Amino acid sequence: MKIIMLGAPGAGKGTQAKQIAGKYNIPHISTGDIFRANIKNNTELGQKAKTYMDQGLLVPDELTCDLVVDRIQQDDCVNGFVLDGFPRTIPQAEALENALAKLNESMDFAIDVDVPDENIVNRMSGRRACLKCGATYHIVSIPPKKEGVCDNCGSELVIRDDDKPETVQKRLNVYHEQTQPLIDFYSKKGILKSVDGTQPMDKVFEDIVNILGA
Ligand SMILES: [Zn+2]
Repeated sequence: MKIIMLGAPGAGKGTQAKQIAGKYNIPHISTGDIFRANIKNNTELGQKAKTYMDQGLLVPDELTCDLVVDRIQQDDCVNGFVLDGFPRTIPQAEALENALAKLNESMDFAIDVDVPDENIVNRMSGRRACLKCGATYHIVSIPPKKEGVCDNCGSELVIRDDDKPETVQKRLNVYHEQTQPLIDFYSKKGILKSVDGTQPMDKVFEDIVNILGA
């Protein structure tokens, strides 16, 4: 079962990807993990990727795709895999498709965890962090015992820059511009499945299992 996870940053696709990997006993593959593993093992592809990352540049699509294709040919992927965070753009999706075609393979499902921007902005803006000990809270789902104060160390809680509505909206705009076209792309291939990501996480997972089959 070869699965691509789609969804805006903050939609919860990483959490769902982990659960899918656990239930179906297939690896959860994120590009961040692949980069780290290849750089750590000092592979040829890893060295190439590192030269870009060291300069603060994005790793080019083709190289990223080579790394992903190398990863999905490893032994633990014989029964499939869940891709999380790749492809992000149409050129990446096309590169992946071409590489898989050479192996006589193709993706089975693209699962879109659909959450409106407004919900994501609201979710993120409820996050609070302790800069002293690293603890994180959420004013609705994981509130601290005393408002604005860290349970662990008593420091004042703050909203990280990353969680501020304007920052979140900027990331969402990039997503709409670059990644949302993939929804059309996979829809045309007939493998797109959408789930309502505003539901509780367990319910979202239930819907995904209904799509993938038990
Ligand atoms: Zn703290």
